[in-house]
Amino acid sequence: MGGKMRRRVIVLGAGGSIGRQTLDVIRQSMVSTEALELAGFSVHSNREIPMQLKNEFPQAKGAWTGDMASAPEGMSWGGPQALSRLLSETEADIVVNGIAGAAGLSASILALRNKMSLALANKESIVMGYRLLKELAEKNHCVIVPVDSEHAGLFQLIQRVGRSIITELTITASGGPFRTLPLERLSSMSADDACKHPVWKMGRKISIDSATMANKGLELIEASRLFDMPQAHIRVLIHPQSYVHAMVRTVDGALYAQISKPDMRLPIHAALYWPDTMPAAFGFADIAGKSLEFHEPRKARYPLLWIARQALDEGEAACIAYNAANEVAVGYFDKGNIKFTQIADVVLKTLEKGWNLPVGSFEDIFDIDTKARKIAADIVEYT
Ligand code: NDP
Ligand code: MG
Repeated sequence: MGGKMRRRVIVLGAGGSIGRQTLDVIRQSMVSTEALELAGFSVHSNREIPMQLKNEFPQAKGAWTGDMASAPEGMSWGGPQALSRLLSETEADIVVNGIAGAAGLSASILALRNKMSLALANKESIVMGYRLLKELAEKNHCVIVPVDSEHAGLFQLIQRVGRSIITELTITASGGPFRTLPLERLSSMSADDACKHPVWKMGRKISIDSATMANKGLELIEASRLFDMPQAHIRVLIHPQSYVHAMVRTVDGALYAQISKPDMRLPIHAALYWPDTMPAAFGFADIAGKSLEFHEPRKARYPLLWIARQALDEGEAACIAYNAANEVAVGYFDKGNIKFTQIADVVLKTLEKGWNLPVGSFEDIFDIDTKARKIAADIVEYT
């Protein structure tokens, strides 16, 4: 991908938060560098985006991955093979994976099998299968560039500072909408309350995960996998202003921070142009007059962060189970079937089943994921 000036981009999950912001980055390039071009996109249930994109980017091919009965007109592919056909029949250089949840892993595998590099927002892909995805990427001469803001920050810092002198990574967290809520009120919070995120406007699942900090738990696993760092050397700090996204500490005791406006278009822009650094038109962080705070998160408020550390210590299968159980629990919470504070209970009980299982193939990953989902659902239904 490096050095080539024009980059043809496929956006997966084009109607989602990441998808729409990626389209903005592509639009911006059309009036500046002209380096990015929308080659294709996927949508799952959004019927408006395809019409809009058809007018705006007539050359882009669309895949409908959802229910065929509600497929809009004019899509190039639909049905179970739609994603695979989009990725095998569209000429492109890089795929932005903005699909939510574990469904994103299959998409990451397909992109790499078709020799396309990945700008990876779907953190579940990394949590579940980074080791195998990286092997596949290397075999097919592709790269995986993180889009998640903290990891995009770490990715830039590590390249600039040098991995060999870095001893500790820090990712920041906003603390979510319940950061200062009295603890005894947590259990009565609804999914809509959890989705009122103070800084970022994101999809529902990740917004709920930000309130529990399971999002930061997933990101801890993500950072450990991407940058090959044991969890004990990765810190999480609550930073409500969300200006500092990541920090690295070096052997000589210095701390380097990556600071930018909390705007996902910035890490998407950086990933799409990587390894080049191109001017961006999304503003910059002006910290004059701002107070930037950093706090240690508390276990009583954010148990899912500690559970993620436990999963990392236990191994790959436990991390897959953590993600799966959390996704199931969040689904129940979103429907009003369990309380906010029970999400962590479901994940903890699922992990207590023991996950010392080998992970040798993507099939193993999907099997562990299915098994953990069933256990988590049984915990909710029968306890
Ligand atoms: P959204 O809920 O806004 O969007 C999710 C997208 O995934 C939608 O486009 C949806 O399509 C599509 N989708 C859902 N289910 C499926 C499926 N089974 N198969 C194919 N496509 C599907 O989520 P976000 O954009 O917020 O998040 C996307 C990913 O990026 C997540 O993994 C999240 O953790 C990560 N991320 C997001 C950030 C953000 O700021 N939003 C920041 C960092 C990471 P449709 O709408 O058509 O149904
Ligand atoms: Mg993040």
